[in-house]
Amino acid sequence: MSNRPIRVRYAPSPTGEQHIGGIRTALFNYLYARKAGGAFIIRIEDTDVARSRPEYERSLYRDLEWLGLDWDEGPDKGGPYGPYRQSERAELYRQVVLRLLEEGKAYFCYCSPQELQAERERAIAEGRPPRYSGRCRDPKVREQLAKEGRPPAVRFLVPEGERIVFRDLIRGEVSFLSDDLGDFVIYRAEDTELHGGRALYNLAAVVDDHAMGISDVLRGEEHLPNTPRQILLYRALGYPVPRFGHLSLILSPDGSKMSKRLGDISIAHYREEGYLPEAIVAYVATLGWAPGRKAERLNLEDLVERFDIRRLSANPSIFDPQRLLWFNKRRLQREDPRRLGELLRPRLEEAFGSWERSAGTAYGPEDWYQALVLAAREEAATVKEMVALSEFAFVEQVHFTPEALKALKEETAPLVLQHCYDTLGEEDVLSPEAASAYFHRLREHFAELGGREVMFPVRAALTGSLRGPNLGVVAALLGFARCRTRLQAALHECASS
Ligand code: GLU
Repeated sequence: MSNRPIRVRYAPSPTGEQHIGGIRTALFNYLYARKAGGAFIIRIEDTDVARSRPEYERSLYRDLEWLGLDWDEGPDKGGPYGPYRQSERAELYRQVVLRLLEEGKAYFCYCSPQELQAERERAIAEGRPPRYSGRCRDPKVREQLAKEGRPPAVRFLVPEGERIVFRDLIRGEVSFLSDDLGDFVIYRAEDTELHGGRALYNLAAVVDDHAMGISDVLRGEEHLPNTPRQILLYRALGYPVPRFGHLSLILSPDGSKMSKRLGDISIAHYREEGYLPEAIVAYVATLGWAPGRKAERLNLEDLVERFDIRRLSANPSIFDPQRLLWFNKRRLQREDPRRLGELLRPRLEEAFGSWERSAGTAYGPEDWYQALVLAAREEAATVKEMVALSEFAFVEQVHFTPEALKALKEETAPLVLQHCYDTLGEEDVLSPEAASAYFHRLREHFAELGGREVMFPVRAALTGSLRGPNLGVVAALLGFARCRTRLQAALHECASS
């Protein structure tokens, strides 16, 4: 067992977008594999045909690629243990279930959903754990019910009086009593040849993990109750049992279960919002692990180097969207401006039909754009926010925010703006430094006024808002003519009531 090659898998069901929780499982599997020089495999668990969708499989690949979590084998890449989609492995499951039936380790069950429900309710009312009574273990009962033409399910015959113990990689020794489990369903069929049937999760997972040579099963804590069932299946089938590690639950900031109240936590959503993939990876790594100081700076390679499954916590972790945003802001501030420019460019084109407005300024196109990128990121936490902070440079006319309008309605605003209009020279906006020096002189000229009374109307005039990038940079990016036009428009605004 211990000298088996390390092979781990991420095995999502393609029934929705990938979100923070799933990606945490994918990431820790990835880190575990890369640390050990093993293989990271993608398996698509699409036995639930009604809920599985090919587009979710595609978005899984897109998200993993975007995050940089490359895999070695999978439905799209192939590999020696394929096929990697459960829907393509049905015959294998059928053969295994037939074998279990033949060996008397599983049996047909004909109980109807209503009967099972009634049984559960009775157990609960009598204070017993609700598990299957084993009614169809009796061949006579089975025969009787089968005559009624009911479709069969296949149940695994759970051995009685056993303690199932395993050493979890994260939480140490865990044990279950087989008597608490009840015979569980492993297959739903239309006939006793198992045609037109479907394997259920526990059976399919065990068959595949074995057939794919999976050495370590790392998955969310919500799967812990499945593990004793799966161990019993491994034993019944004579397969070596892999190691298991159950990653801690992820909770909302208020300690409740992750819920819709947190909003959309899909990776697609964060990409759309302009998060950097590196920030998401670095943040997700902190869910159940403390990779070290300045965790927001860590890259995948750093995480691989530091990863040690024994250091993972068994306690629930908290998903805090604000902290993820903070990680993103920090990464944005340190990101290579050229790359940021590449990320921003298509968004600017979409929003403003252009990514560059250097005409009439002292900049060449590329320098203008780099200056804009640097200015916009100062205040931004996401690339999307950078778009909003760049708006002033693209619009023909600024739209005043309510606060900006208020600043323009101050008694002294027309005075300041008129003076600025009259004295601002072409050379004053050749560079951010020159523009800053000009604004400094402007403040000195109106020394009797507060700094805000001078600069707020000017900022409102040039950008439409009271918040945004450094005003010297703003003026230099706009150029002389556009600054003048905007000062004039703002003066009109002051005069209108
Ligand atoms: N398809 C299961 C899920 O999406 C995978 C469980 C496992 O890793 O065994 O939760």
